[in-house]
Amino acid sequence: MRYISTRGGSVDRRFSEVLMEGLAPDGGLYVPATYPKVDDTTLRHWRSLSYAELALQIVSLYIDDIPAHELRAIIASTYTPEVFGSAQIVPLQRLDESTALLNLSNGPTFAFKDIAMQFLGNLFEAELGRRGARLNILGATSGDTGSAAEYAMRGKQNVQVFMLSPRGRMSPFQQAQMFSLQDKNIHNLVVEGSFDTCQDIVKAVSADLAFKRQYDIGTVNSINWARLLAQVVYYFSGYFQATNDNSERVSFCVPSGNFGNICAGHVARMMGLPIEKLVLATNENDVLDEFFKTGRYRVRSSRETMVTSSPSMDISKASNFERFIFDLLGRDAHRVGDLFDLELSQRGQFCLTEQETACIARYGFVSGKSTHLDRLQTISHTWQRHRTMIDPHTADGVKVAREHLRSGIPTIVLETALPLKFQDIIREAIGQEAPRPVPVTSMEQRPRRCELIAPSADEVKAYMERHCSR
Ligand SMILES: *Cc1c(COP(=O)(O)O)cnc(C)c1O
Repeated sequence: MRYISTRGGSVDRRFSEVLMEGLAPDGGLYVPATYPKVDDTTLRHWRSLSYAELALQIVSLYIDDIPAHELRAIIASTYTPEVFGSAQIVPLQRLDESTALLNLSNGPTFAFKDIAMQFLGNLFEAELGRRGARLNILGATSGDTGSAAEYAMRGKQNVQVFMLSPRGRMSPFQQAQMFSLQDKNIHNLVVEGSFDTCQDIVKAVSADLAFKRQYDIGTVNSINWARLLAQVVYYFSGYFQATNDNSERVSFCVPSGNFGNICAGHVARMMGLPIEKLVLATNENDVLDEFFKTGRYRVRSSRETMVTSSPSMDISKASNFERFIFDLLGRDAHRVGDLFDLELSQRGQFCLTEQETACIARYGFVSGKSTHLDRLQTISHTWQRHRTMIDPHTADGVKVAREHLRSGIPTIVLETALPLKFQDIIREAIGQEAPRPVPVTSMEQRPRRCELIAPSADEVKAYMERHCSR
């Protein structure tokens, strides 16, 4: 499989190059040159496979520059019951006739990001070993991404992680999860400031190309194609668990922020998985709901971006969105460049033409939004009706899924985190806390490893110079 850029620059990459590069040199996102189509015979075969076997079949369609036995070993060591808590890896849980949850959050950090990040960690280690190279990952986090990245990279050969987080802004649970890691290759840098301060420092350090090259700085952004690819697999698994044969159709409802998770659903649908609708759920930060209803994409300022009780969806723009727009516009890279390079940077928004907007339906997308009150009601309702505790992000999904139900077509809501990560809203909704497994309690008692650092790119560079692997 070859990879091209959504901006049409003349790039022609293979998987491992895309893996290490992240963003394309012309500023676009990497996408596969085509989506391999799966037919009924293949689907029938895949239905009987274990999660790891299914993952190997799917990702092999997109990776042809890693030896097959190596890829098999990477996947076999990634998707194990020990890491993900069950043999199914992503067990489906029926709520009622029409709705089911796909449990994606039983990995090490209790959020769905583990599924892709654990794969990425093992891919990086193998690729660096092959190249005899090293990687220093620099990132900023307000919660889930940072911990998923650290748990995926801890103890890995030739990889160091430098993760900036805003002091006192993460939940106590998220702090404990990250700061209790004792691995020497993990560096928690706590910055006096907001998430935006952290993000700006990462951008400033990355903009110093000489420094970046000298220290082999990389990222684990959600725009990395390898992360998206790993997520395609659970759409297939969810479909097989929810249906008896391949004549049935299902819809998926996805709590969305940066459009990574649901973009993987789009890829699965393009490959021929019988998905009826892709239902996108936002919280009060409704950039994407607005787009799917009107064809207008308007990036929000940080002042306009609200702090909500489903914080991992508090986005001002959706970094993976360009991949879908590329397909929607018939892969017209020129038009994509006009929209994202010109209109967005000059006016902070773009509007599709009426004709282009009309195409959205062909791709199965519909959307809805949810508020704090909706989350409280949905968490409470799901607890009372089904004795199931769901986290606030999943609640956004369940709420919006209910508005789009169609008879005869089950909707699978992607569960994106466990409720124990967000005790405040759980207590507010149902008057008790989510149960905490024993390892979680002991995690909060472990000594903390983090370093307070001044909010300056130079300070961060100086720290990295002292600690980067050579
Ligand atoms: C990251 C995250 C999301 C948003 O996922 P995207 O891929 O950015 O759309 C939703 N819920 C939780 C719990 C997350 O951690």
